[in-house]
Amino acid sequence: MTEVLTPSNPLSSPVPLIDLTAQYRMIQHQITSAVQRVLSSQCFILGDEVNELECDAAQYCDAQDAIGCASGSDALLLSLMALDVGPGDEVITSPFTFFATAGAIARTGATPVFVDIDPETYCISPGAISDAITSRTKAMIPVHLFGQCADMDALQRLSVKHDIPIVEDACQAIGAEYGGRKAGVLGATGCFSFFPTKNLGGAGDGGMITTDDPELSKRIRRLRVHGDVGGYTHQELGINSRLDALQAAILRVKLPLLDQWSDARRTNAERYRQLLSDRGLLDDLELPVEKSYGKHVYNQFTVRIRGDRRDALVKGLRERQIGCNIYYPVPLHLQKCFEHLGYEAGDMPESESASHEVVSLPVFPELTEAQAVRVVDALAQTLASINRASTVAFPFTIPQIKAA
Ligand SMILES: *Cc1c(COP(=O)(O)O)cnc(C)c1O
Repeated sequence: MTEVLTPSNPLSSPVPLIDLTAQYRMIQHQITSAVQRVLSSQCFILGDEVNELECDAAQYCDAQDAIGCASGSDALLLSLMALDVGPGDEVITSPFTFFATAGAIARTGATPVFVDIDPETYCISPGAISDAITSRTKAMIPVHLFGQCADMDALQRLSVKHDIPIVEDACQAIGAEYGGRKAGVLGATGCFSFFPTKNLGGAGDGGMITTDDPELSKRIRRLRVHGDVGGYTHQELGINSRLDALQAAILRVKLPLLDQWSDARRTNAERYRQLLSDRGLLDDLELPVEKSYGKHVYNQFTVRIRGDRRDALVKGLRERQIGCNIYYPVPLHLQKCFEHLGYEAGDMPESESASHEVVSLPVFPELTEAQAVRVVDALAQTLASINRASTVAFPFTIPQIKAA
């Protein structure tokens, strides 16, 4: 039996990294009736439910159109296909992201070109991009990592100057803002995921592409149904990537609540800042930096601990039953499947040190104050014991060894 978290017993209970049941309990009845509606209709693929969600999502992001698809990964793939990205092309992206960002590029036959991140936001560094642009560069995919937008002004300037479209990987950032505009309308297309742990999560896989370009929109709508222009007529090769009506019906219940959940995530983040500062833990932990250019929606609350202490911190948190995880432990330029691209350790120093030093803490909307306190208690205890151990092991300053 898994222990049930109750308000009367918060201190003795484990704190999960994310608890989807808390949210489900609040909207269970609406979800059930939405699912019933779809079952009664027996229309399961695309159809009215998906059309309605597409309208709602386009309106939410202030985009001209939104196109449902099977996953965030496919949203990226379909976007690249619609931009004619293929063999011989290069697409610039960040190595510090979920695999799908680069996987989509490689799936088109194009070459992922990795450039390093800004250590403050963990998002792609515009300066590094401009050095990587070549005559083969066909697109760039900034990732709005952990729920905060990349530095889009700088990226848009590069995009215009070199005529290279931007595909936003907004899978972790639905509702995030940049300069008062929503993630998803800051490039040629915006890609969203409804994976259950994303800020707007379905009951399975699902995705969405937003765009203001009617030509791209038409093409993506075609590409998601094998390129069918109607009547089983295929002028180009597409894929099967449709959104299920069941997912759309469930997401239509959740979308109107998204802003309130994002606000709760932001409140939790603010609470951590306060608690961690009150406990004097900010010498050891670096907290997420909120850029003034936009609104962070905290898909993850990712802290950083310098040096070689991260794994001990994770171990200590887990021993104290605090859910945490490392996003991401291996930067993509060092993944086995990209070995042939020829990158080596040391090529992306900021991404590599981030992979070695970050850990994400529970920040889901329903996290209670008592749970946050428990997370911070566990951090304080673990840090105290890590720092004690390191003073015992190295009681003296090690003299600098001079080269002969
Ligand atoms: C989740 C995610 C994806 C892929 O979404 P799926 O729906 O799981 O295919 C792509 N990029 C990033 C940054 C993600 O977090």
